[in-house]
Amino acid sequence: MRSYLPAYEMETPRDLQAALDRMSREPGAWRPFAGGTDLMVLLESGKLSHKKFLNIRSLSELRGIEVNPEHAAIGALTTYAEVRGHEALARDFPLLSRAAAETGGIATQNRGTLGGNIANASPAADSPPALLVYDAQLELVSARGARWVTYSGFHSGYKQMDLRSDELIRRIRLLRLTGDWKQHYRKVGTRRAQAISKVCFAAAARMEAGKIADVRLAFGSIAPVVFRATRTEQSLRGAAPSSNVLQAAQENLAREIAPIDDIRSTSRYRRRVTQNLLAEFLGILSS
Ligand SMILES: Cc1cc2nc3c(=O)[nH]c(=O)nc-3n(C[C@H](O)[C@H](O)[C@H](O)COP(=O)(O)OP(=O)(O)OC[C@H]3O[C@@H](n4cnc5c(N)ncnc54)[C@H](O)[C@@H]3O)c2cc1C
Repeated sequence: MRSYLPAYEMETPRDLQAALDRMSREPGAWRPFAGGTDLMVLLESGKLSHKKFLNIRSLSELRGIEVNPEHAAIGALTTYAEVRGHEALARDFPLLSRAAAETGGIATQNRGTLGGNIANASPAADSPPALLVYDAQLELVSARGARWVTYSGFHSGYKQMDLRSDELIRRIRLLRLTGDWKQHYRKVGTRRAQAISKVCFAAAARMEAGKIADVRLAFGSIAPVVFRATRTEQSLRGAAPSSNVLQAAQENLAREIAPIDDIRSTSRYRRRVTQNLLAEFLGILSS
């Protein structure tokens, strides 16, 4: 059933301070509305229980992309289209660029924002695995000030996160991988456009003398939160990619993940695809 529109309220604050003041005066009452690509789906299906929204889309303080030798700082309102079109991001942070290109269709890419993708907290979202590989940090702002948190600890359970009711995500900082890293991104879905991931994978590894000196493996859609497979990573460090190493790593990975059965896929399929994606990545490392 569709929602009854007059039951909803939307305000447009003139700047960031006005937005934060509004949120601090009535904690929890006002929700940010950025691109609306998640919120409008809820509205259309009559599931948008929250009634008051702050239209943050025009806040210039939440915009902008800056890439320097240490990191990239990306405003929370940055759209997928802006990520895709940014040359330095595509060159230095290709996993995020690929994730943006694989997210929805053009309309969604023009409206949907990175901050909204994070705050929507779906374990099937496509950007978060890339954020994990780049050790992302989030700047959270409120009328009380700003704090930085690591993205890896931000989501603590399904749709749960370290974001207070008076806080906005302002910026996402990605740390540059230094040295010679091979990077790989894959989204597995029913079809190319508009499909939510069955499994989503972002990985990077640094090779030294034919061995894996360092490796990062991040997955979406196979646990209540997007996560780094740190135990599998540990088992790969120092090893040369071989069929024995792959088999052991696949077994570790199967123990580390907890995929569910849902309308998009089965746990069994997701487990197998996850192991195949790892094989594909190790194949790239040894080529
Ligand atoms: C047709 C379609 C296809 C899609 N395909 C994909 C896909 O392939 N992959 C994928 O990952 N996603 C997909 N999505 C989901 C969606 O586009 C993303 O999650 C999007 O990034 C959300 O951003 P938004 O700005 O639209 O968020 P909104 O809908 O405005 O908000 C989403 C949530 O985030 C909160 N929020 C927004 N900005 C902030 C902020 N700065 N600080 C704090 N909280 C904030 C809002 O209060 C709300 O709870 C799709 C959606 C549609 C409609």
